[in-house]
Amino acid sequence: MTDIKSLYFNELNEEVKKLALPNFRALQIYKWLHEAGVGSFDEMTNISKTLREKLNDNYFIPALEIEDKFVSKLDGTVKYLFRLYDGEYVEAVVMKYKYGYTICISTQVGCKMGCKFCASTLAGFKRNLLPSELEGQIHAAQNDLKIRISHIVLMGIGEPLDNYDNVIKFLRIINSENGLNISLRDVTLSTCGIVSKIYKLIEEKLPITLTLSLHAPNDKLRSAIMPVNDKWGVDEVVKACKAYAKQTSRRVSFEYTLIKDVNDSPECAKELSQKLKGFISHVNLIPVNDVEERGNVRSGEQAVNNFQYALKSNGINATIRRTLGSDINASCGQLRRKKNEANGD
Ligand code: SAH
Repeated sequence: MTDIKSLYFNELNEEVKKLALPNFRALQIYKWLHEAGVGSFDEMTNISKTLREKLNDNYFIPALEIEDKFVSKLDGTVKYLFRLYDGEYVEAVVMKYKYGYTICISTQVGCKMGCKFCASTLAGFKRNLLPSELEGQIHAAQNDLKIRISHIVLMGIGEPLDNYDNVIKFLRIINSENGLNISLRDVTLSTCGIVSKIYKLIEEKLPITLTLSLHAPNDKLRSAIMPVNDKWGVDEVVKACKAYAKQTSRRVSFEYTLIKDVNDSPECAKELSQKLKGFISHVNLIPVNDVEERGNVRSGEQAVNNFQYALKSNGINATIRRTLGSDINASCGQLRRKKNEANGD
């Protein structure tokens, strides 16, 4: 059966024609799916029962159920564990900022990238999320919290550029006026550095912000913690980011997770500054979140501050990531893993 929520409006229009329905039905259905974000045909109240049955016989909406929900007492951050139509789980986090609500969504069930400090890889890779499931995370959270989410970050479980086509389709769908109408300037895509896809993304001419998970200033260190670096090294990936910044006129951000005695030395800060010279960038410093099995220790406050100071004095813009939802384990990958363990997977 066709996933009706993963269709562009013109594709939906074709389907409506096939069912010999009048044109205006396509827009009605599209709005229910994307503006309202309903999870079933029965909720489409301005559509007759006979037509709803016809839709039910031919299409499906891969709805997400809220399996678990945690609300931080410290800052109101909400973390969801969603159950997908096939029984898999993914996570998303909603954060409140001065400029509005941001959701961090997952892009795959699990991840293939194997980064040594990350929880998402531990539970293994199952499958890509469909465009409808990427969008469904926004709808589920928005409808549950009765808010409008304005900013999206693709920084949950999975590697967005490893699910390229679905992510691009999702971005175009959430940008549509008859859907969520989200400005692509308010979307951030975070990648571990799949260089071929960064160049492909440039060609899409979408005004999204690109964030690179760099985490180390040289190949020796980066390959030791991020297997993707064996394929595309530091110089190659930074070059691709420079090309992205040049073509889109958008500032590229770099994530740098600080792990005690691994990548937090003053020499690392100096080397990083040299690599990032010459274009408008921004470094987010994140003291690593310890994942039980990983045994990484976060850098001390002094080391983090020194690292930031070293970057700044070399002319590199750097901030230390504020931790939200620290009481609810808000960083991604951990809930799905615990759920799978509990189910004996
Ligand atoms: N695959 C994409 C997006 C998902 S990971 C990427 O690699 O960018 C989102 C961010 O969280 C990445 O910067 C990732 O390196 C970081 N991250 C993963 N595990 C972490 C941990 N234990 N502590 C701190 N940051 C972590």
